[in-house]
Amino acid sequence: MTQTNATDEILDCQSCGACCAYSSDWPRFSMETDEELDLIPEEYVAADLGGMRCEDDRCTALGGKLGVHVACKVYAVRPIVCRTCMPGDDECLMARERHFGKAA
Ligand code: SF4
Ligand code: SF4
Repeated sequence: MTQTNATDEILDCQSCGACCAYSSDWPRFSMETDEELDLIPEEYVAADLGGMRCEDDRCTALGGKLGVHVACKVYAVRPIVCRTCMPGDDECLMARERHFGKAA
């Protein structure tokens, strides 16, 4: 997804990935049905089955290089919280600030 921020700089998720590498405890599952969760390959799911499996702070389903080119390996079946994360929102800007030292 691509969006611009307040200063019209482009926030391009495919060349970012910061929010997918923000916390070892994110993303967690929420309102997904069992059928939806069954579609996520086991290798990317946390041992407690409560969310995606992370290595350090990075979701294991994130492929590519942060800030260069990234892709979600489970995009079509990704958790709900990943779908609601929008470029330019508070969480996005916080994650970008942490990884790149600036929000955009
Ligand atoms: S931090 Fe923002 S721009 Fe980067 S991938 Fe997440 S939503 Fe997209
Ligand atoms: S499941 Fe996909 S969109 Fe969600 S944090 Fe992992 S890599 Fe990012």
